[in-house]
Amino acid sequence: MTVQDVGVLAIGAGPANLALAVAIEESGARELAGDTLVLEQHADVKWQRGTLMPWARSQVSFLKDLVTLRNPRSRFSFLSFLHDQGRLDEFVNLGTFHPYRWEMSDYLQWVANSLERVRIRYDARALSIEPTTESGVITGWTVTLANGDVIRCRDLVVGGGRDAHVPEVFAGLPADKVVHSSQYLDRIGAVPKDRPLHAVVVGGAQSAAEMFYALHGDLPDSQVTMVVRSIGLQNYQTSKFINEAFFPSYVDEFYDTPPEVRAQILDEMRFANYAGLAPPFLDELYTMLYQQKMLGPQRSSVRSMTEVLNARQDGDEIVLDLHDRKTGKVDPVRCDLVVLGTGYDQRMPAMAREVAAKLGLDDIAVSRQYRVDIGDAAWGALYLQGVNEKTHGMSDSLISVLAHRSQDIVNDLLARRTAELRSA
Ligand SMILES: Cc1cc2nc3c(=O)[nH]c(=O)nc-3n(C[C@H](O)[C@H](O)[C@H](O)COP(=O)(O)OP(=O)(O)OC[C@H]3O[C@@H](n4cnc5c(N)ncnc54)[C@H](O)[C@@H]3O)c2cc1C
Repeated sequence: MTVQDVGVLAIGAGPANLALAVAIEESGARELAGDTLVLEQHADVKWQRGTLMPWARSQVSFLKDLVTLRNPRSRFSFLSFLHDQGRLDEFVNLGTFHPYRWEMSDYLQWVANSLERVRIRYDARALSIEPTTESGVITGWTVTLANGDVIRCRDLVVGGGRDAHVPEVFAGLPADKVVHSSQYLDRIGAVPKDRPLHAVVVGGAQSAAEMFYALHGDLPDSQVTMVVRSIGLQNYQTSKFINEAFFPSYVDEFYDTPPEVRAQILDEMRFANYAGLAPPFLDELYTMLYQQKMLGPQRSSVRSMTEVLNARQDGDEIVLDLHDRKTGKVDPVRCDLVVLGTGYDQRMPAMAREVAAKLGLDDIAVSRQYRVDIGDAAWGALYLQGVNEKTHGMSDSLISVLAHRSQDIVNDLLARRTAELRSA
């Protein structure tokens, strides 16, 4: 077991904390950069590794990378990555604003490798966080890793993404029969393919649709049913007017809005992010179903207006009781595998909730600068990235605002240090 001390510890080397690392390096605060460590539980950086299919595309413009909207001259931009890798000509020739997700993922790893002062420690899963206190004042945080190593820091930034959402109805099923989208690519390769299977995909948004599409290649000759609660798969809301709510500048406007109005805005924006599919992909999916219907074999079907009432194991199979919302009838359907495109838990991640409980906080409220309110006297601060949709808007879980959000956090880190120097 080792014990290490750092100034800033960031949990998770996803887009959020990589953008933070870039902003710290670009701030010119060399000491702070040299005293910052990012932890990543995996051996490398990958963007949404569970569904990193070769044909899956980013849904936001590559110009909304980790840095360009804040600093278009940055050497950490997506275009700089393409140039460095000698593929700028080909990318420009593609004529797209929406790169493949694997290409954005390669960009993230390239950014991680290109940092000069901020360090990244891989294979380092943070297990628990304990506040460190002196005379009742929080002076920092002690983070214990899965291998027992301990890292103490003054400021902690949690950017581990959201927890997978597994609806209660599936909670009792054996783990080898249920695959959540966050694990899809890790798990699907291990599913035996010696006989045709029946896989049921649950959910009607982008991740569910991507897995539905992928399963035709990943489980050859199998039947794939998609169970969708709504009347049918829908396109994302792509209005340019509504898209302005993803501007970094909209965060201020949203933050200053009363909570009940924020809730209304989020509800109205549901189809701009969560509940729909990228229009070109929706067309591709429809074309696949059309070709199957006309040319056969028809292996895939979408059951709309349907919800799963109950799920149980029966021998080697799973039985799903499917409720038809039109007729009210319940139909037991047998399958070998349940694939969940049920999204992510909208609550704060378990890790943040555990720290809040240790601090005696009923509610986790962050400031405009993403700092958890633990009292003005605290010397150590806790920042939360990517989980503040309720207060900072729908863009909070997306890459659209990362360039600016990371700057907000860096400004706060530096302002607190400057204020202390003045008062010393
Ligand atoms: C399938 C899918 C597609 C998406 N496509 C888009 C898109 O096109 N455009 C867009 O803007 N947004 C998209 N999103 C939203 C996505 O949340 C953001 O793009 C972005 O990945 C959020 O970055 P993050 O760093 O907050 O979290 P994540 O990307 O989830 O990264 C978190 C990182 O922390 C690591 N980690 C977690 N827990 C620990 C721990 N305890 N210890 C150490 N490391 C840990 C994880 O391994 C991971 O590397 C998509 C989301 C999904 C699920």
